[in-house]
Amino acid sequence: MSYKPPVENPGSKLFVYLYKPTTAFSFPIEMLAQFIQDTLKDKLVNNEVEIREEFLQNYVVSEEDLTPRKHAAEIMARCRIEDIKVEQLPYDKDEKVQIFYTAMELNLLEGIPPDRCRDYLYHGPRLMENFRNFIPESERTLEHLHIIFTDRLFCSWNFSDARYHARAIFLGFPHLISMPGLVEAPARPREYYIKRHLYASSGLPVDELEAEFAGQYLIYKDARTVEALKGYILQSLFYTLFKDPFCTDPDCRLFNSHWQSELLRSQLESGKLCKNHSEIIKQYVDGK
Ligand SMILES: [Zn+2]
Repeated sequence: MSYKPPVENPGSKLFVYLYKPTTAFSFPIEMLAQFIQDTLKDKLVNNEVEIREEFLQNYVVSEEDLTPRKHAAEIMARCRIEDIKVEQLPYDKDEKVQIFYTAMELNLLEGIPPDRCRDYLYHGPRLMENFRNFIPESERTLEHLHIIFTDRLFCSWNFSDARYHARAIFLGFPHLISMPGLVEAPARPREYYIKRHLYASSGLPVDELEAEFAGQYLIYKDARTVEALKGYILQSLFYTLFKDPFCTDPDCRLFNSHWQSELLRSQLESGKLCKNHSEIIKQYVDGK
């Protein structure tokens, strides 16, 4: 399926939907809706962002019937990664493995245990493709911007070092933002990893290590989460509108951060778009 950016039709307006993460990863999502409303103004249909329930809950899991839930579990099982150094996905191996992972995914969808999903890895591109099929056909155009906050940690395969790498965001249709990915994907300071290795091998309490580096990276339930997510929201908007989501300026919210320090700099210390990107979005909103 190919998509054309609505910017080719400057009069077109956007529908924007935000899907909540599961309760264990919740944050004040209304603040992000307001941020998008303030950014897009009249270019947003009804000047309003629609907040929806968690993606799978929204489309399948809340049904009384178990069949759609089983279907969702099977889809999540298809996307599971077993070993970060093996490109082939376990689901594609044999039927026994398929049954095993599907049963495990059904438990996760039932909420047992509530935040366990962050321990597992998923194939980002396959997850996006499968999630796209849940979206009603009438909303599968680029005038409809779906941003899904998921509790799953997803990865993509990197050919240069032949292994999977965790990602905070997958841009496409729909856009996926991983709540655990926000914490785990951008790297922490190098010294942190060296010391963590030392702590682990000498049996020292990891709490002390976390205290030493406190504030230098995002943690779960971090008060800075919403601010950090604004950059990913803008990347989603710029990708959909202009097919150009990134910036090389480390103080621009569109900077593609690979380190936590870069993420905190672009989103917290700077917290704005560079001059060039501010102008691009202004021209779009003003309809020029
Ligand atoms: Zn920029």
